[in-house]
Amino acid sequence: MRLLFLLFFVTYSLLALEYTLADTSIANGKTTFIIFPKEKGIVYDRVAHVDGSYQIFEHPLDKTKMYALIPMSYYQTPSKEKLRLYYKKNGAAFDEDMFIKVKDGKYAKEQIQVSKSKVNPTSEAVKNRISKEYDEAMRIYGTVNQESYIKSAFIAPMQSAITSDFGKARVYNDSLKGYHSGTDYRAAVGSAIIASNDGIVALVADRFYSGGTVLLDHGQGIYTCYFHMSRFDVKKGQKIKKAQQLGLSGASGRVTGPHLHFAVRINKVQVDPLQFIELMNNKILKEI
Ligand SMILES: [Zn+2]
Repeated sequence: MRLLFLLFFVTYSLLALEYTLADTSIANGKTTFIIFPKEKGIVYDRVAHVDGSYQIFEHPLDKTKMYALIPMSYYQTPSKEKLRLYYKKNGAAFDEDMFIKVKDGKYAKEQIQVSKSKVNPTSEAVKNRISKEYDEAMRIYGTVNQESYIKSAFIAPMQSAITSDFGKARVYNDSLKGYHSGTDYRAAVGSAIIASNDGIVALVADRFYSGGTVLLDHGQGIYTCYFHMSRFDVKKGQKIKKAQQLGLSGASGRVTGPHLHFAVRINKVQVDPLQFIELMNNKILKEI
């Protein structure tokens, strides 16, 4: 009798749980999401993937829903990926598997010639600096505030032509050094850079690779990044409104010329900023 009751309960729980996976397939470097209804007795825990686990947050605009962003790593090879949802119903723990197909993003390759000192930094001091800056950035991206600061759609950080897309495989002086981790905008030195959305300034620094850098925390593990700046108009910890000026563009750090490099991190994963913005604006921030 007890066993029968238990079986009934499990089946019922699974049937009762209605989630919406936004895409059945995505390319590496892109983002998708899952929407969950808020239901009495259900406590959502997380969505786990081999690459890490994604928290389930309150929807930024619709308080009747929960959601989880799923950022797919650039290095994820085409495959069928399992996402395991962990949740509790009336105090009992459950999990449920969802599957998503990962496609090849078919990103282009880009040859870049830069001065040798910037490609293979040999001095210990420079190596230490790079490593410290990397650790600091990872600590920031790994800091997840439960609250969302987002109240409306994202905007571009400047109105200008895009000169290099996210995802191009980067070949520096003939050796493969990763991929282009953001979107580049054409920007003469001194062009205004604005905040893509509301947030809090998480970092203002001059870094070896990214030069003059501002990182904005939008809450719930979402960060936007602004690189190679020549002037800062904001301070760490400052609350920022969408479209507020962060500073001016420049040619600082590892660059071949002045431009703005704009990037997005979700749960520490670098994703295509323009695809992320389109997804947020058209599917998550639009419906209300
Ligand atoms: Zn760039």
